[in-house]
Amino acid sequence: MIYTAGEMLAEFVSHEVGCNLQKTTTFSGPYPSGAPAIFIDQVARVGGDAAVIGSVGDDPFGEMLRARLDGDGVDTTHLRTSKTLTTGTAFVSYFEDGSRRFVFHMEGTAADDFGPCPHLPHGSTLHVSGASLGNAKIRAFVEGLIAQMKGDGTISYDPNIRPELMKDRSVRRAIDQIIRRCDIFLPSESDIAALYPDKPAETVINDLLEAGKKIVVVKRGAKGVLGSDGSDLIRLQPNVVEEVDPTGAGDCFCGTLIGLLDQDQTFREALTAANMSGALHVTRRGPMEWNPTLAEIQHHLEIETA
Ligand code: ATP
Ligand code: MG
Repeated sequence: MIYTAGEMLAEFVSHEVGCNLQKTTTFSGPYPSGAPAIFIDQVARVGGDAAVIGSVGDDPFGEMLRARLDGDGVDTTHLRTSKTLTTGTAFVSYFEDGSRRFVFHMEGTAADDFGPCPHLPHGSTLHVSGASLGNAKIRAFVEGLIAQMKGDGTISYDPNIRPELMKDRSVRRAIDQIIRRCDIFLPSESDIAALYPDKPAETVINDLLEAGKKIVVVKRGAKGVLGSDGSDLIRLQPNVVEEVDPTGAGDCFCGTLIGLLDQDQTFREALTAANMSGALHVTRRGPMEWNPTLAEIQHHLEIETA
């Protein structure tokens, strides 16, 4: 079973580029969101055994999140409904250069309210989404889950570094510990720049594989992907698409990769599918409005090679 734990959010996306969340303008939403939610939904969409650990409020946003995850086949046994706290929310606005600005409401909402740490069965995979680690309660909960695994099972880690968070000593310590502990490391190019300044991605991949990681992949947005499982370094060109909304592409990519590796696809097959799923993901507005199924991914891969 593949588990993830963290913030479940309802997200609102501005239509007006550059509105900077300060102008009254048109938004779409609520969308089900939160990096862990996007990831685990995608694991289920490609047919993987997926389970989520988190909380929603007893409100319409919580009902929406639960319905989407349940509907896509995620095990929601460990998705709690808080009777007192509302579902966490996020608002996002894009700028001309592709950068984003967010307003999150997580602290003190159901998003960072966890029950007791569940026991993960022998051989489980735990995926850690780094965006959550800036929140002290989520960080402590995830660290508890990792400690409980005691070297059993697989840990995959997508750092999603926000530079301002690196300045917080406890966050930095948690990041360094998870990098040491994880088996599968899935940073983006900007994560590599923040963590290993001036070190080329190829060198980072080789060094980490030598240090014992099973798989290291560097996500490169519209430039594709680079990764290795200890054999050849695989560089995949991007699938050419029109980008509408990049949020969640990395989580979708990771969900496809981990979900397919768990179903015994080869590293190259899983990486190729993940590269396509990330490309498809960015063509629709909303953080998980196009988490493609395996059949949809394969259909688009066939069109590419035809
Ligand atoms: P985020 O943290 O914003 O969800 P990320 O930085 O972790 O994203 P990206 O590198 O943006 O991850 O996207 C993950 C993968 O999705 C890329 O490595 C690539 O395979 C695919 N992808 C993303 N954007 C595009 C794009 N514009 N065109 C083609 N493929 C893309
Ligand atoms: Mg990312």
